[in-house]
Amino acid sequence: MRILIVEDEATLRNGLRDLMIGDGHQVETVSDGAAAVELGLREAFDLVLLDLMLPKLGGMEVCRRLRAARPGMSILMLSARGAEDDKVAGLSEGADDYVSKPFAARELLARVRAMGRRHLGLSVDEIIRVGSLTLDLAQLSGQLGERSFKLTAREAGIVRLLHHKMPNPVSRSELLEAVWGSRGDLETRAVDMAIATLRKKIEDEPAVPRLLVTIKGVGYRWCQ
Ligand code: CA
Repeated sequence: MRILIVEDEATLRNGLRDLMIGDGHQVETVSDGAAAVELGLREAFDLVLLDLMLPKLGGMEVCRRLRAARPGMSILMLSARGAEDDKVAGLSEGADDYVSKPFAARELLARVRAMGRRHLGLSVDEIIRVGSLTLDLAQLSGQLGERSFKLTAREAGIVRLLHHKMPNPVSRSELLEAVWGSRGDLETRAVDMAIATLRKKIEDEPAVPRLLVTIKGVGYRWCQ
């Protein structure tokens, strides 16, 4: 992707630039909000990594202006504040995702890659490899270390959706609707049961899941 990095702190800006170049992206950097709008309107970018607290023009305003002019461009907001209010405000201004500082490089890369997949309109890879686990969603099969197993179509559907939404969590009702084709909170227990069965197949320690993680009060998230 072609990425615009907007960050006033030089150390972080350079760190982000190196991280994105290392991941195979083309990168431009600017250090204030006015320059971000100027360059973002003049040239096309696939993704903007946008700091919230910026000199000259704040990140929210930058987001609003770029979003209005370039609806197809992804915007990922970065903020030191970590406040829930900022997140909600950022997303309502048209940001596609939000990362709180300090963030782990790995987490940021995962989010950028997820945006890249959305940007390209690619469907999820039908073969997923994480450590010693391989899942073939098309063939409904998997292997964990030496052990092979079968997946049900429903389990493949769960993995496909969670993987696609990564790094964001997916609610039980969203899973229920997408994978089971039904609505209704009463049935969400079916989701929990299916997840428990799936964990026994794909997790090294099903009782301490590391891939298919529960986000309390929200739902489930795929972590890789
Ligand atoms: Ca800043």
